[in-house]
Parts: sequence; C-alpha cells; structure tokens
Amino acid sequence: MQTADIRQRWLDYFGDRGHTVVPSASLVSDDPTLLFTVAGMVPFIPYLTGLVPAPYPRATSVQKCIRTNDIEEVGKTPRHGTFFQMNGNFSFGDYFKDGAIGYAWELLTSPESAGGYGFDEKDLWVTVYEDDDEAIRLWKQIAGLPDERIQRLGKDTNYWSTGQAGPAGPCSEIFFDRGPAYGADGGPATDDDRYVEIWNLVFMQYAIEDVRSKVDFRIAGDLPRKNIDTGMGLERVAFLKQGVENMYEIDQVRPVLDEASRLSGRRYGADHDDDVRMRVIADHVRSSLMLMSDGITPSNEGRGYILRRLLRRSVRSMRLLGVDGATFPELFAASRDAMKAAYPEVETDYDRISRAAISEEEAFLRTLAGGTTILDLAVDKTKAAGTPALPGDTAFLLHDTYGFPIDLTLEIAEEAGLTVDRAAFDTLMTQQRTRAKADAKAKKSVLADLSAYSEFRRVGETVFTGYDELETSSRIL
Ligand code: ATP
Ligand code: MG
Ligand code: MG
Ligand code: MG
Repeated sequence: MQTADIRQRWLDYFGDRGHTVVPSASLVSDDPTLLFTVAGMVPFIPYLTGLVPAPYPRATSVQKCIRTNDIEEVGKTPRHGTFFQMNGNFSFGDYFKDGAIGYAWELLTSPESAGGYGFDEKDLWVTVYEDDDEAIRLWKQIAGLPDERIQRLGKDTNYWSTGQAGPAGPCSEIFFDRGPAYGADGGPATDDDRYVEIWNLVFMQYAIEDVRSKVDFRIAGDLPRKNIDTGMGLERVAFLKQGVENMYEIDQVRPVLDEASRLSGRRYGADHDDDVRMRVIADHVRSSLMLMSDGITPSNEGRGYILRRLLRRSVRSMRLLGVDGATFPELFAASRDAMKAAYPEVETDYDRISRAAISEEEAFLRTLAGGTTILDLAVDKTKAAGTPALPGDTAFLLHDTYGFPIDLTLEIAEEAGLTVDRAAFDTLMTQQRTRAKADAKAKKSVLADLSAYSEFRRVGETVFTGYDELETSSRIL
C-alpha cells in the first residue's frame, strides 16, 4: 500500500464520517513559541484550548511535522524521522472516547477492500493511562481486545498536558507487534522495537491546576467541552504495510537512500554503520527539502539553523560513506521526485530550493576542507605530545572562525583515537555567549526598539513539542 493510498484512505474515512478535511498547515507554525509544527494538533490549538470557538465540530488532516528532538534517533530506530506526516482526527466537544476508539479500531482493522488498512486484529496492542478504567472498558467492548493486550502505563507516557494550567487528559496508544524476530513478547510496555507505536489517542477531559510538572498537578474538574486529538504516523503505517524494515525504506524516502548508495558505491544492507548513514541522509535530505519548500533558508539562527544542521549532517554522512564531492544535486532531485505527487510545490519551487541547497553544500565543503587541514595538524601535534585530548581552544577556533561544528571535531578526534578537552571548549563557548549578550545590551541602548528581535530569539530557544515536553532546541545543536 503506497503512502499516498494510506493518506487518501484516511481522509476518505474521516471525511465520510462528518470530519471537515483541513489541508496541512506550514511546517512553520503560527505560534511564535513553537519552532516548528510538531504534531497534527498544532494548527488546532486555539480550538482545543477553547480560546477560539471551533468552526466545525470535527476535523481531519494529514499534517507535515518536524521534530528536532528525535534527531538522534534517526536511522537508528526504525520509526523516527525529523520530518514525518501525522494523520489526525479531532473532535471539538463532539464525539469522545468511544468515538475515537471506535473509529481507530475500524479503520485499522477493516479489510483493504473495504477502504481500511487491513491490519490483523491479533497484531494490535494498546496502552492506556493506568487509572483510565473507562478506556479499558471501551477497548474490550468495542474492539473485543483481551486483557493481555491492554497495558496500563503511567503519566510519563500516557497523559497529555501542556505543562501549564488548562486542558489535559489521559492517552491511549495503539501498537503493532512485528513478531518474535524483533524482541521478547512482553508487549509495548517493555519493547518499542518489536511493538511499534502507530497511533496516539488523546482524551482531553480535565482542567488541571497547581501544575508543578507534566506529571505533577491537580485535577480541578471536568472540561465543559471534552475534545479528541489523535495522531497516527503516516510513515509508520506505510513501513508496516509495505513490508519493509523501517520508515526510511518506504516509497517516499527509499529513492534518496538508494541514490546515496549509488553515489557512494556502498550497498545498503552490507554494513550497519553505513546503513545508518544512508538512512540519516534519506531523512535529512527530505526534511530539508520540505523545510525549504515552506520558505526556510539556511542561516545561523532559529529555524534556519536547524535546516543548516540537517544539511550539514547530510554532507557529513556522505563523507563518512567516502564521498568528498557534491551530492546534493542528485540527492535532492531524488527526494523531489519521491515527494512531488503529495506536495507539488517541491517541484514547482525546485529551482529556488535546489539553488539554496547546492550553494549551502558548496560552502560547507569549503569549510570542511579548510577545517580538516587545521584539525589534522592539531591531531598530529596532540599525538606527538603524547596527550589524549585535543585542546579546547583548537576546537573553539574551528567552531568560531571556521564554522566547523563541534560534533564533527569530536567525531574526527575519536576516529584518530583522541578525545577533546570539552570542559575548556565549553568555557570558551560560555565566555563568547556572555560577550555576545553584553554586545547585544550595548546595541540595545543605541537602537530604539528591539522587541521584535527578542520575540524572534524566543523562537530559537523554546520548542513546544506537542505530545512531548517543553525543551530547548539547543540540545540538538
Ligand atoms: P515514539 O514514542 O515512538 O517516539 P511519540 O509517543 O513521541 O512516538 P506522539 O507524540 O504520540 O509520538 O505522536 C503521535 C504519532 O506520530 C505516533 O504514534 C507516531 O505514529 C507518529 N510519530 C511521532 N514521532 C514521529 C517521528 N519522529 N517520526 C515518524 N512518526 C512519528
Ligand atoms: Mg517520541
Ligand atoms: Mg510514545
Ligand atoms: Mg505517543
């Protein structure tokens, strides 16, 4: 089942059941505190919180998402992309738990010939919030699930809140069992490689207060209007339905992976580390393509910096596959061809996108050439002196003057059997930030109004990850 087909079945299913079909919003969210759209619910936040009356009682969408906090998982787990599409159905004070569970179960298990996804009931498990007896009852009643395939979990995984006073509620998640070849049979509570999470149902039913953390708060009462917010991973269902091993091997992504393999002359499946690199490239190139098609350009701040990191990690991964020259012309064309049916704008805007991608690659290749020479000299010197760590000031110079990322310095040092004096590097970074802040303050006293600028800075600092926690984007940088 092609990804486009899975998407269309979704929209048809919920469209036929009274949901207004809402097109995907941009990856750049309207919410200034969000770096990117991280979940299908993001464009609906004003309706879900009750800030704005919903213009329809139910809606459905297939939303483009970026999750930078999953970047370290990419290529290593089968299921995490920095870009992915979240299929969602939403109820604003309309149907609640029984409706959400009924729809999810019917769509997943109806035969393909009847418009469903045709999953075998026996392969599906669910988790529920430990105190949500109502959800357990409904899973048994509606889906006929036996006790042993319903697992109770705590607030850390099965409760949704924003971390602030306001709406909150338990979640129930649906998992697909890939079978004993992928792990022991303890259910989703014990193994997330064998049991792949495909769909999260959020039951927004309480108003909470005295919020100390995402798991420590008081329930003030029931919400006057209860909402449903669900998210199903399109790529996850695609990889399970396409009988491949992971989301990087689906029809929308695999062509980029194959192109990385062709350009490097390394066969996918021959070496674990190379396989991870090819998957990282396939993911990052697609994410970059989609970010650029939504108007982001590489830069040193905020969203543009995330894009720059994705592009540079792709270049770096190609180098680790043994390719030192430019590869973006081929990689981006492959990603465009795989994505254009779903997003025609990646083709109509391709000149603009590819020009920006290719010039970023050229600039980074020059940076790498310059930085690598300096780094090689420093490695030789460190080894000759018989010390185990590259000096922190060398790493800082590379970062500050040559734009050479620290993770690259760390990796190259490691390949040479050395470490990096990270404490010294961090001290220099802190000093530099303090200087930059002092500079900004000095400038502020001469410039009239920098409030717009400080608004923008906030975007670079805080990422609301929707279903997950608040966190700073700096973790991935
Ligand atoms: P996981 O535990 O596997 O990281 P999650 O609990 O963080 O997933 P949710 O926040 O519940 O995911 O998002 C709803 C759905 O979106 C998930 O059930 C999954 O199918 C999909 N999804 C989430 N993150 C990703 C990702 N990085 N790549 C692809 N699909 C994703
Ligand atoms: Mg996650
Ligand atoms: Mg999860
Ligand atoms: Mg989840």
